[in-house]
Amino acid sequence: MLTLTTTHQTTHACRQSPRPLGLVPTMGALHEGHLALVRRARRENAALAVSIFVNPAQFGPQEDLAQYPRDLERDLDLLRAEGVDLVFVPAPEEVYPPGFDTWVEPGELATRLEGAVRPGHFRGVATVVAKLFNIISPDRAYFGQKDGQQVAVIRRLTADLNLGPEVVVAPTVRDADGLALSSRNAYLTAAQRAAAPVIYRALRRAEELRRAGVQDAGQLRQAARALLEGEPLIEAIDYVSVADTDTLEELDDVPGRAMVSVAARIGRVRLIDNVMLE
Ligand code: AMP
Repeated sequence: MLTLTTTHQTTHACRQSPRPLGLVPTMGALHEGHLALVRRARRENAALAVSIFVNPAQFGPQEDLAQYPRDLERDLDLLRAEGVDLVFVPAPEEVYPPGFDTWVEPGELATRLEGAVRPGHFRGVATVVAKLFNIISPDRAYFGQKDGQQVAVIRRLTADLNLGPEVVVAPTVRDADGLALSSRNAYLTAAQRAAAPVIYRALRRAEELRRAGVQDAGQLRQAARALLEGEPLIEAIDYVSVADTDTLEELDDVPGRAMVSVAARIGRVRLIDNVMLE
């Protein structure tokens, strides 16, 4: 497994790579959710690159950039064991050298949900993803449904700017109690960890109601919200959304597909999750 830190070496190595080449972009602190993406990408491609980069541009000034968990040696061991060919681990100055002044600004899609609570977040995501696609030129890039709005933004970005790679989306990997795996779960205390599965229960509640024939999106949101409000360790609910899967506009009624998503804070830990209504 090649571990490279410069864009120049990485582009050079990827140009020589067998095809198809898969890419799994990550911020490290790898867990089974990341590894599910890596395994799928490994099966579907002749070569596999993974990036590990805690992208400062997608963190707000009050967010957890400095505390974000990092364990490069463990991550590299895990990736080696999965048969990854190349890992790109750039320093921030390699991605954003002095004088860097060009950004990819996603449109309306990125102003909703996470974008409303985290201004600039998707500009940072879109910029780094466009850069990674240019540096690595993958044939396929793999993302998790866990970050549902990110998937919508990246699909839009890839189509709008003709970036090239096929965007492949893999299902959310959860713990046995339903909590979506996330690097940020490491911040939870034992009591907070025990309370956190309420987020998935709230999403499931909306899903069950929809399956029972309820099409009124307001009723689905209210049912999910009621569960969250019943958990005292949930300190803030940023949103409970029932939205169009492509535009993420809030729906009034749900005759067909929709994404139900939640962002809520337990202590200082902000957790997001979603389910798709089919
Ligand atoms: P991150 O390191 O948090 O930026 O995540 C890297 C990639 O892994 C993103 O495409 C995430 O959506 C995906 N991912 C994170 N957690 C999960 C999970 N529990 N299940 C599936 N994919 C995930």
